Amino acid sequence: MDTATHALVGLICGELGPKDIKHRHLIGLGFGMLPDITNVIFVHPYLGWLAGHTIPFAGGQDFLDFPEILDHWTYHAWLLSHSLLFWAIAFLPFWKRSGAAKLAAVAYASHLIADIPSHTGIYGLEPFYPIPYIFDGWFDAWLWGPVPIALSIVTTALLYVVVRQLRKQYLWPSERTLQHPS
Ligand SMILES: [Zn+2]
Repeated sequence: MDTATHALVGLICGELGPKDIKHRHLIGLGFGMLPDITNVIFVHPYLGWLAGHTIPFAGGQDFLDFPEILDHWTYHAWLLSHSLLFWAIAFLPFWKRSGAAKLAAVAYASHLIADIPSHTGIYGLEPFYPIPYIFDGWFDAWLWGPVPIALSIVTTALLYVVVRQLRKQYLWPSERTLQHPS
């Protein structure tokens, strides 16, 4: 799944969260994108360099042309950031601390849940990394061209608008007494 769609799914998580969580939209959006930080700073620059691109940033095809990336530490950093086991260790200890911590955990998990079915074959996710079990997903959203990606972004953006409308009627108990809902 592309990072913009992930950001919007995170934004939807933030919108769904109770309004007394400060900066809930920003937290949702940020943590919804966060797992792909390993992609942006490690995997794509390294693979782009390996592929000999002038601008060292890999495209989808480079993964198919250079499967040796699978054994490189950069790819393993990506697998780690997409592991449910890592998520449980990094987020669950803070679950009870605050609403913001819960929202961050949910938004981060939304990214992993969206990526698990959308990577197939050798590029499937390892949901319990470092336990070497590859989940063979159902389709390859990461190889999509600009049109399906745009459709995915527009659909998710529309879903956000719908959720935002619905949230005017569906309130958390803590919001029913709020005098100045934002
Ligand atoms: Zn991802």
